Amino acid sequence: MNKISILIIEDDQAINNLIKTTLETRDYKYFSAANGLDGILVATSQNPDIILLDLGLPDMDGNEIIKKIRSYSNTPIIVISARSEDRDKVEALDNGADDYLTKPFSVDELLARIRSTSRRLAYMQGSTSSNRIFENGRLKIDYVSSVAYLNEEELHLTPIEYKLLNLLAKNVGKVLTYTYITKEIWGSSWDSDIASLRVFMATLRKKIEKDGVNYIQTHVGVGYRMLRIE
Ligand code: CA
Repeated sequence: MNKISILIIEDDQAINNLIKTTLETRDYKYFSAANGLDGILVATSQNPDIILLDLGLPDMDGNEIIKKIRSYSNTPIIVISARSEDRDKVEALDNGADDYLTKPFSVDELLARIRSTSRRLAYMQGSTSSNRIFENGRLKIDYVSSVAYLNEEELHLTPIEYKLLNLLAKNVGKVLTYTYITKEIWGSSWDSDIASLRVFMATLRKKIEKDGVNYIQTHVGVGYRMLRIE
């Protein structure tokens, strides 16, 4: 029996059923709600490990639900949105959602998102004391000396590249929006900051991905995510 429990908040009965069936066949425990109010009630009473949240609900804006849940918990939230709701998706990530799925999605995509979120969850729960060193694949960050390594060799990063790497590492597995990253790095989010971000991201990737391992995933129009390398 899979120990992870998942709450589905989705008013589209066909999609809700598809997700339920998928989770059932994989032995996930699940709860389901067809509107925002029920969703919040189940989230507080059952305390699920992961929440799958449709942004277009009949009674509430999905982003309001994220804000409510984030006011008391860090439970990973995977947002489900239609292609036309691109802006809502970015807003959802800015409000603290962890990842997103765009409709129509396949069962494989859904399961992959749940797996990567579960890994992130396990990492979050296990990383309370090991905050000195970050390791991912061949990449290592020593937070005490503020030095990053690739294949045990010191990486020569500029202060901004280092800050950027730290931010991505701290949120490994999570999609970070342009707005979030630029606000963290420069304290503002002007178009010029986003242009700078692209440049620094390119130089950082050149340094950490020279072996052909993709540590950083680009989400066009949304932002970036550091992948957890097995
Ligand atoms: Ca809907």
